[in-house]
Amino acid sequence: MELAENLERIRQRIAAACGRADRDPASVDLLAVSKNHPAESVNTLASLGQRLFGESRIQEAKAKIPLCPGHLRWHMIGHLQSNKARDAVQLFEMIHGVDSLLLAADLQKRAEAASKTVRILIETNVAGESTKFGYAPARLLSELEQLNAFKRLEIHGLMCMAPYAPNPETARPVFRRCRALATECEAILGVPLPVLSMGMSGDFEVAIEEGSTLVRVGTALFGERPRRGGPEESAGAD
Ligand SMILES: *Cc1c(COP(=O)(O)O)cnc(C)c1O
Repeated sequence: MELAENLERIRQRIAAACGRADRDPASVDLLAVSKNHPAESVNTLASLGQRLFGESRIQEAKAKIPLCPGHLRWHMIGHLQSNKARDAVQLFEMIHGVDSLLLAADLQKRAEAASKTVRILIETNVAGESTKFGYAPARLLSELEQLNAFKRLEIHGLMCMAPYAPNPETARPVFRRCRALATECEAILGVPLPVLSMGMSGDFEVAIEEGSTLVRVGTALFGERPRRGGPEESAGAD
């Protein structure tokens, strides 16, 4: 019941943010971040029509995904270690946290072995936070063509995380910078990068106003996570 209300409320907030930004609500996908929450909660949301889910740890995803309906689509949103690239290629339709040539090369190798194409988002650390993963903008621009050369990887866009702040307005310049960086990347590659994965429970409306096409919402949807550390700590731990 609570999940149904939360989902409805978030859909309304997404629609309202789209209204303020003069955007079509269909241009924003909701990724339900189910990390630390059981398969039963996923199944409840699935029965309400939610299709897209995000996980940040391979071990957890491996255990949970087989317990969920087969038509759901899963994104890997956490930091991916190279030794988990093989599982990630099997489990996920998109991998958000690609932030080095080394990781891209591992994904390429595993995708080749599985005869698969892997959709990726490049994680950018536009705020320059030392505690966060992701490409610094200058390094991304210099390595972009090498990233794009991996035959089995399809770059669909950028992903970023704003620094935590109680006031979501603080995140606005970060999202704006990420969008501008995506435009620079499009110019370099000469192809559109349609996906901007920006915005979490605390700041997804601002992210939508700044052009996000994919909001990653956990807490506002599922409630507080059973404690296993914050997003950064949990994203690295596996
Ligand atoms: C956990 C996590 C989220 C969801 O965070 P909430 O604040 O619970 O909505 C989004 N993105 C990433 C990368 C995460 O690790």
